[in-house]
Amino acid sequence: MILTFKIKHNRDFSIELKKAKLIANFAIKTHTLSSKDVKQFGLKSIIANQILRKYSRNKKIKNVKSVKLTIPNQGIHVDKEKHEIYIPSLKLTFPYIFRNDFEKINQIEIGDVYAYVSVTVPDKRLIEPQVWLGIDRNTTGHIAVVAEPQTGKVWKLGKRAEHIHRKYREIRRKLQKAKKYRLLKKIKNRESRIIRDLNHKVSRKIIEIAKEQNSGVKLEKLDGIRNNKRHTKSFNYGLNSWSFYQLQKFIEYKAKLDGIPITYVEPRYTSKECSRCGSIGIREDKSFKCPNCGHVDHADANASFNIALRPPLVEDAGQLHTDRDACKGSTDTPRGATPRTTETSEPPSL
Ligand SMILES: [Zn+2]
Repeated sequence: MILTFKIKHNRDFSIELKKAKLIANFAIKTHTLSSKDVKQFGLKSIIANQILRKYSRNKKIKNVKSVKLTIPNQGIHVDKEKHEIYIPSLKLTFPYIFRNDFEKINQIEIGDVYAYVSVTVPDKRLIEPQVWLGIDRNTTGHIAVVAEPQTGKVWKLGKRAEHIHRKYREIRRKLQKAKKYRLLKKIKNRESRIIRDLNHKVSRKIIEIAKEQNSGVKLEKLDGIRNNKRHTKSFNYGLNSWSFYQLQKFIEYKAKLDGIPITYVEPRYTSKECSRCGSIGIREDKSFKCPNCGHVDHADANASFNIALRPPLVEDAGQLHTDRDACKGSTDTPRGATPRTTETSEPPSL
């Protein structure tokens, strides 16, 4: 699978980036594929060629806002012992902190602050799970609640999210009232960075548990969720659709890296049914009570047991999810002219 790592390069490439933008606009107008035609812009041909390839054939783009410097595989030197990447055309050396077992670096895109390093890592063989963990994401106070039905163990993960969200909601409301929109945007970005970080931690923990328990992971198939940050505005609560989706993508790609199978189940009544007898129970805030068998449980734990015990949806029983590239478009994907296919921007400790 392909992962993209985001690394600060600590260099000023503003001149090169300006040239790249000029070349991209030139490419859109002339559709040329020859680097001789753009020699006058003075960018190294190995980079200019990539820009031409990307923009010359594209008939949809009319005007380019920002262009990154794309360096193909053959223009990248890797020193695995030193954990260093060297790009001769830019005289740029920087260390990388991600795992060393990658097959190759496909390409690197250089922006004004970050280098986006696209890496192919080997797929692990899927384990044969003894049991399935149920992951409830729509919880009353945590990012996710995990249950393992064989031992009856429950893990509640990401409690901070609720406090964070409350705190930021209050700040946002004040800024909105005061019409401080720029600051509001900054605050929103900060909040999504914190949630993103939490989602990374929670997904990592879930995969750790799965490895320990030799189990697969079951998630609800939530159709309403989508990867569209713009939708956040219409939600009151921050842990909404994009956050669930982000967590799902993080779980999916981390599972794939470790050979943990993932499957999806029907989400209906997961919080209403009793995980012991299947009757419809009474849910009050955080507690669940079954009038039929008398089972009493934490509502989210009951829901995650239900998820763990449900049969997989037929369409997802195969390899559907493991074959997809993980993490399409993260929340902080820079909005360039071309959408990124993979973007994980994993923090140091993968
Ligand atoms: Zn019951």
